[in-house]
Amino acid sequence: MKEKLQNYRRDFHKFPESGWTEFRTTAIVAQLLMDWNYEVLLGRDAIDESYVMGRPEESVIQKHIQRAIEQGADEEIIKKMEGYSGVVAILDTGRTGPTTAFRFDIDANDVEESTNESHRPSSEGFRSVNPDVMHACGHDGHTAIGLGTAEFIANNRNDLKGKIILIFQPAEEGVRGARAIAEKGHLDQVDYFVAGHLGFNLDSGYFSPKASGFLATTKLDVTFRGKSAHAGAEPEAGKNALLAAATAAINLHAISPHSHGSTRLNVGQLTAGTGRNVIPELAVIKLETRGETTELNEYMLDKAYKVLNGAAVMYDVEMDVKKVGEAGTAECDEELVTILTEIAKGIPEFDNIVEDHKLGGSEDASVLMAKVQEHGGKAAYVFLGSKIAAGHHNSKFDFDETVLERGYKVFTHTVKKLNGV
Ligand SMILES: [Zn+2]
Ligand SMILES: [Zn+2]
Repeated sequence: MKEKLQNYRRDFHKFPESGWTEFRTTAIVAQLLMDWNYEVLLGRDAIDESYVMGRPEESVIQKHIQRAIEQGADEEIIKKMEGYSGVVAILDTGRTGPTTAFRFDIDANDVEESTNESHRPSSEGFRSVNPDVMHACGHDGHTAIGLGTAEFIANNRNDLKGKIILIFQPAEEGVRGARAIAEKGHLDQVDYFVAGHLGFNLDSGYFSPKASGFLATTKLDVTFRGKSAHAGAEPEAGKNALLAAATAAINLHAISPHSHGSTRLNVGQLTAGTGRNVIPELAVIKLETRGETTELNEYMLDKAYKVLNGAAVMYDVEMDVKKVGEAGTAECDEELVTILTEIAKGIPEFDNIVEDHKLGGSEDASVLMAKVQEHGGKAAYVFLGSKIAAGHHNSKFDFDETVLERGYKVFTHTVKKLNGV
């Protein structure tokens, strides 16, 4: 298994795909799950397309489907995806018992991977072959752990009861993918749900059964549409979209903090205009809001809309706001945290168990967790410690591959504990 996990990881690492374009990854995962006799859901059977956020335009999707096929994806499986990546796999043992779901995210980052010889994927021949995309967050490891876990479950189905659902989720980066999975209803009958992440400031040998400090977040793309005009001859005929966007950007950052807890806002990108002597017709800003609670994020979002509208009115331009990502806060259920703590204590490779570890960022597993909890199920998010070569999302990111085996043990022991006969 150790070798298998490493091979999976290195293969996914070499052929990374960013959010909503994980066609090769999906095809490989789906093929294996079919071989192991899972019920495999793809495309619109896996996701509710009306909740898909931040998916690239159709021409980009088609290009990536083509690349996936060139890089070995099965064409029949690709067809079943109907342009949507991600897999939901179900194994029903036929015996009465709980329904347990695990989530593994499969997407990569928009990062050009380092070619430096000190970077192991480079020196050992599994550096990304795809330009401007890299597994810089460790989701290649998550996918590998998910496949190892899937094989274990299939091989031990006669010793298990209840139902097991494995979610290989697209587009976690930018918190775009979970909502479409959650709204399809896969989690409505789930009793136990576990997701997790490797690395995240915990060294190899560390484990935390409980993540806290999830920030609720919303990602917006805002387009201001004005009117171009000759900047010398008749500037008054123009409507300046650049100034609207710039005014919005500055005033968005002036939203007051809130006394109930921490909030964040960032305008990360502003593109506008076409030339020096033209009143700018078009401007686009990409921004995000965050909050320690869902309410605090909503406060930021509400204020942000007011600023955006105000800026559009000031410059008499049209505005279009697109929500391209969304996640809530999340609370792990103590009952499941206790079970996971006991499991980790039984795994000798863990010499340090951290009771509670702060994420300090956003994760759309929170959307799945909330869905499970809404229906009375228990959810938890764990951290699998791993030494990392550079920070998450850095071009030299790499992790200690022994974490793959530790992750495999956590998930398989959890299955045995919750679904063992
Ligand atoms: Zn990430
Ligand atoms: Zn990640």
